[in-house]
Amino acid sequence: MVQLGKTGEQLSVADNLGSIQLLFMSAWRGISAIFYATFLCLSSHLVQAWDYERHRLINDLALDTLPQSFPRFVLTAENRERIRFLAGEPDRWRNTRDRALRHLNNPDHYFDVEYLAQYELKTETLSHFRYRFVEQMAAARARLKLELPEGNTDHLKGHPGFMPWSINEHYLKLVSSFSYLQVFKTMGTQEEIANAQANVVYRMGILSHFVGDAAQPLHTTEHFNGWTGENPKGYTTSRRFHSWVDGGFFKATSDPDRAAITKQLNPAALLMRPASRDLASGQFQAVIDYILEQHRLVEPLYQLDKTGKLSKETPAAGRQFLHQQLAAGSQMLGNLWFTAWKEAPPDRFLQVYLAQRKLKEE
Ligand SMILES: [Zn+2]
Repeated sequence: MVQLGKTGEQLSVADNLGSIQLLFMSAWRGISAIFYATFLCLSSHLVQAWDYERHRLINDLALDTLPQSFPRFVLTAENRERIRFLAGEPDRWRNTRDRALRHLNNPDHYFDVEYLAQYELKTETLSHFRYRFVEQMAAARARLKLELPEGNTDHLKGHPGFMPWSINEHYLKLVSSFSYLQVFKTMGTQEEIANAQANVVYRMGILSHFVGDAAQPLHTTEHFNGWTGENPKGYTTSRRFHSWVDGGFFKATSDPDRAAITKQLNPAALLMRPASRDLASGQFQAVIDYILEQHRLVEPLYQLDKTGKLSKETPAAGRQFLHQQLAAGSQMLGNLWFTAWKEAPPDRFLQVYLAQRKLKEE
């Protein structure tokens, strides 16, 4: 978009040139308009969740839920800022034009729960293995003669997205970072400890983005940017709705009230894993439950808009709703960070490796 804008500016400088150039200009504007329209069509899931400021706030508030006993290096001013900065990182990956990265990264930011029905899949029985889930969808496509997801450039049409897997996998990578940090702290060099600490900070930052995304209910629904399909209640179909919820509302009214959100937060707590071993991968089940809670708020959010309560003129109820969502994201993030630290077992493989290294050195 920036490039189109720039082109427009450059052309407007040429306004006093000859008629041939004017003809060229109008032709170019026509092409630009077509290109812009095509971009809008292709950009079905290019909408971002919370804008960068909202993601930073979620991270900042989540850091405040951590106890005094949490590793101190995380809570230095420098690392707090790094974690706030990383809140925007997976969205920066979305800015790339390379289709392979978009194919990999974009669906990690959403989970359109309604799409499961077409595959006859239910949230209660989803596999926590990402590729098993892909196989389940492929099998259903063959059995139910569903359309292949080739209808857009990213080959993701009709795809629910991978947000629950993404959050759980990034959570497990954070657990791994805490696991090897523990071992380096007793058997490693100063450089190894510093590197492992830097990785913990990085992993906390990357995980944060997807947890924050999930707190924006429009990232859990096929109605992610205006209501689609049958619309008996007459909800908005505006293609600006998503960005209004992401940050437009706050920009048009006033910034979120940090104190009001903080009041809704509790100290970070341990997340429980289900007793069944089959469901015991990381925090997949807790993540699914968390996403479904936000999904249940999709219609109430559209209702708020319909009754004018998400507007500049009467913003109180909308503001309260969005505060609650920012709090939900911060709380879940704090809980996941805390649980990853508490639950991380020592990295046994690394222990053996470092013990052998020590023996060789002696
Ligand atoms: Zn995102």
